[in-house]
Amino acid sequence: MSDSSTVNVAEAPPGIEGAGFFATSLDNLVGLARANSLWPLPFATSCCGIEFMSTMASHYDIGRFGAERLSFSARQADVLMVMGTISKKMAPVVKQVYLQMAEPRWVLSVGACACSGGIFDTYSVLQGIDRIIPVDVYVPGCPPRPEQILDGFMQIQELAKKETTRRRNEPEYKALLASYGIE
Ligand code: SF4
Repeated sequence: MSDSSTVNVAEAPPGIEGAGFFATSLDNLVGLARANSLWPLPFATSCCGIEFMSTMASHYDIGRFGAERLSFSARQADVLMVMGTISKKMAPVVKQVYLQMAEPRWVLSVGACACSGGIFDTYSVLQGIDRIIPVDVYVPGCPPRPEQILDGFMQIQELAKKETTRRRNEPEYKALLASYGIE
């Protein structure tokens, strides 16, 4: 049985330790801090957004991951979480929000609609947000359960831990952005 008074601390990054000291690289330290203080920007347009509300609420409590501070200002957000059906008219707005986010930034596509258009294979619905912006993690489901959203978020945390200097300076990342017409 779990003890509700137990406080779990984040795992230390790989390093060297001895009596009275612990040494690691700056990259690992920055990654640890970033991964446990990601500020999400929820871009919720429909039913998947309701699942996100549940993910935020006390039972699932995304605050346990250091992400309880939602940012509705793109410039102060780390993770763009797109949840719901994105119409083609809405697509330029999603892209503008993404462009306003500072690096390092990550994108979590939540639910079938955001990932692929879902059941709405129609002229008016964008068939996946990766047609307009790069996506880091996809969460399947219609709608996905809060546990799935948390799992996707934890995968973003893993990326944040490993990508301290981020792909942003790497040619592959620049080429990826260029393929979306983003400099
Ligand atoms: S994936 Fe399903 S639950 Fe989510 S927004 Fe689309 S229709 Fe709604």
